[in-house]
Amino acid sequence: MRVGCHAVRTVARVSAAGEITAAQRIMLVHAHPDDETIGTGATMARYAAAGAHVTLVTCTLGEEGEIHVPELTGLAAGAADQLGGYRIAELDAACAALGVTDHRFLGGAGRFRDSGMMGLPTNDHPRAFWQADLDVAAGLLLDVIREVRPQVLVTYDPNGLYGHPDHIQAHRVAMRAHQLAGDLAPAKVYWTAVPRSALAAGMEAFARSSDNPFAGIDNVDDLPFGCPDSEIAARIDAEKFAEAKLAAIRVHATQIPPTSWLYSLAGDPTGQSLGVEHYRLAMGEKGPGNGPNGWEEDLFAGLDVAMTSPAGA
Ligand SMILES: [Zn+2]
Repeated sequence: MRVGCHAVRTVARVSAAGEITAAQRIMLVHAHPDDETIGTGATMARYAAAGAHVTLVTCTLGEEGEIHVPELTGLAAGAADQLGGYRIAELDAACAALGVTDHRFLGGAGRFRDSGMMGLPTNDHPRAFWQADLDVAAGLLLDVIREVRPQVLVTYDPNGLYGHPDHIQAHRVAMRAHQLAGDLAPAKVYWTAVPRSALAAGMEAFARSSDNPFAGIDNVDDLPFGCPDSEIAARIDAEKFAEAKLAAIRVHATQIPPTSWLYSLAGDPTGQSLGVEHYRLAMGEKGPGNGPNGWEEDLFAGLDVAMTSPAGA
């Protein structure tokens, strides 16, 4: 296991002067290793395959995660406290599965620690991301923005999609860095989202499953996330990359048990659940879209940047 050898990966498309030359550049800011895959893996794989420069910034090592591999439970925060280092290797393998070559940890690996779920004493750890000074953390992200100059920035909504402190903080840091970036601010900022219609369809599809992630929930409005369809701006159909996303899910083995509902989604006969991801537009102009809701089909829609390789889309 090559733990820790790729905390900062080399970038794929650079000029002799070290400048990134891909026309389309997208940056994703995530809280923990595995969030990139579960939330945006298909999107990342699609843009990487199309020749866009995809930059993943992960804010913590995910030290406080539960461990679903029995022989690795000794790595837990309360035992050897080695889970974070182990998850670097899982993230490295996930990026390889998604075709993403530019990955960094905010401020370097281990700068910020997983804060654990809201209200736990781990929120108060001196290195907890939840405790990070906003401008310091945003300054570190700003350095990456200045280097990569992405046109599109992806992060979470103000509630971090479901209320985890590190997700909320990732949102705050990304938005503050965007504000500080001035002329270099990405033209569009998206927040990950799950449309209510997709949740309702998922609840129906899983109703009789023994693995029902919605068990005990009667109404889609009772879920801590779920965005009205009218507020969704983009639907990224990356069904071609559902297999790559599934491969990336598999390598996050400490976090995602083989019984996970994510694998049930992969078996969905419609084949769309894993490969289709949705976004709200937080900043920038919505580009042209399609379908009954006029959803964009490309996060670069409306921007004047050439597609590197339309075939990858
Ligand atoms: Zn997370």
